[in-house]
Amino acid sequence: MKNYEVVVIGAGPGGYVAAEEAAKYSKSVAIIENNHLGGTCLNSGCIPSKTLLRHSEVIEMMEKAKDWGIEFNNVTFSFEKMMNRKTKVIEQLRNGILGLLKHANVDIYHGTATIHSNRQITIDSEAKSEIISADKIIIATGSKPSIPPIKGIGNISFHTSDTIFELEKLPTSVVIVGGGVIGVEFACIFSSLNIEVTIIEMGEQLLATEDLEAASLITKKLKKSKVNIITSARVQEISEHQHQKVIQVETMNGVLSIETEVLLFATGRAPNLSAVSKLNLMKNGSFIAVNRQMETSVPNIYAVGDVIGGWQLAHVASAEGVVAASNACGIFKETDYKAVPRCIYSSPEIASVGLSVKEAKEKRGAVLVETFPFTASGKAIAMDERTGFIKLIADPVYGEILGVIMVGPHVTEMISEASSFIHLEGTVDELASLIHPHPTLSEGIWEAARNWLSKQRNSQVISI
Ligand code: FAD
Repeated sequence: MKNYEVVVIGAGPGGYVAAEEAAKYSKSVAIIENNHLGGTCLNSGCIPSKTLLRHSEVIEMMEKAKDWGIEFNNVTFSFEKMMNRKTKVIEQLRNGILGLLKHANVDIYHGTATIHSNRQITIDSEAKSEIISADKIIIATGSKPSIPPIKGIGNISFHTSDTIFELEKLPTSVVIVGGGVIGVEFACIFSSLNIEVTIIEMGEQLLATEDLEAASLITKKLKKSKVNIITSARVQEISEHQHQKVIQVETMNGVLSIETEVLLFATGRAPNLSAVSKLNLMKNGSFIAVNRQMETSVPNIYAVGDVIGGWQLAHVASAEGVVAASNACGIFKETDYKAVPRCIYSSPEIASVGLSVKEAKEKRGAVLVETFPFTASGKAIAMDERTGFIKLIADPVYGEILGVIMVGPHVTEMISEASSFIHLEGTVDELASLIHPHPTLSEGIWEAARNWLSKQRNSQVISI
């Protein structure tokens, strides 16, 4: 039986980054994957959704261009070509991961892994079953869509993010159950393709975990794009009638009946635990419990990414993968979640890092908040992309930057500046003294910092 110093299970952004990191310490490393390299992120998550969102962005821009005097006769699009492009993007990146793992001398096994208590691992595939063993194991098996138990669901066909990217033809209507990040991104994709889109959300607002002002802006924009948004609503029953799904929804105003061609569930994610069914691991709710070194309750076994819950973001999975691999190779490292950027690729985009206003007030007592609107940005006006703002949250005494929320064009590309400041415990003073290029959207954070300082000075004057 072949023994490895480190075996990683799951080749998503948590797993393949962990494997590559362990290989950098000259360890013998293997990775086991029962589906495609790249995991959810590459095959049915981040990458296909952002590829399709890019199409939405272009369509939206072409619509807007009419107001600028740039006219197109009859804009048409081919759904088939769009989906083919998405597949090509995925394949290119999958090859990239394959090359990266090969270059790092990581052995790749295809099959479903089951870990035994003696750290032997069974790998089952259609072709064969084999066993390898490991000194250290990193579990990076990710998550899968979680579907609520709804009456009639067993008798109808529906989609999740695992299957929707395989649609062969553009439907006439889509109902999305769940108004969180994934639901909202899909609403942006489908509404730009001119089909009927409805979001059914149980909570009072879309994007419940986001800044209220940011969530309201997106809601307004989706409504403007004719997305039907039903909040404080619960799906009671689903049935199918002549290829249409019929959804009974309980709302504040009584029960609605909605018909749709495609039904998509975006109702959260549950951990993939098949690899650990033979282990008695401590859990944190339904997820695998770990400490800050990513160690599970069983010695020499680590877990990272969606399978441990928490942020459920690709870049967090990769960061945890680096920490787990380093510790597995004898280099002490701990995770630090202080500056985790969170991005929503809606139109307009939302990006935030650090504490929300509410969290900052709870932790620090008082905070001073300054918001710079893109209506006052020369670049945003020139681009005709004025919807949005940059909100700066900082400690009123020392000016330490505690949180930043951005809504607007390209803010997912701009949030890393705010992350750097929070990571390095930077202050508003330091941000205001940093020269930003003009005209850019990024100088908005500099404007916010300058306005914040004036506000701080004025509030000190008032309090004297
Ligand atoms: P995964 O990527 O899920 O990888 C786990 C892998 O393990 C899978 O390939 C699985 O097949 C394999 N596996 C499971 N069990 C076994 C077993 N027993 N044996 C062998 N292999 C096994 N995050 C972002 O940061 N930005 C985004 O824009 C973003 N967009 C998203 C859009 C959608 C529609 C979805 C669904 C998710 C999105 N996410 C995004 C979340 C992101 O995809 C996940 O956080 C990330 O993929 C988690 O990485 P992971 O390595 O933990 O798990």
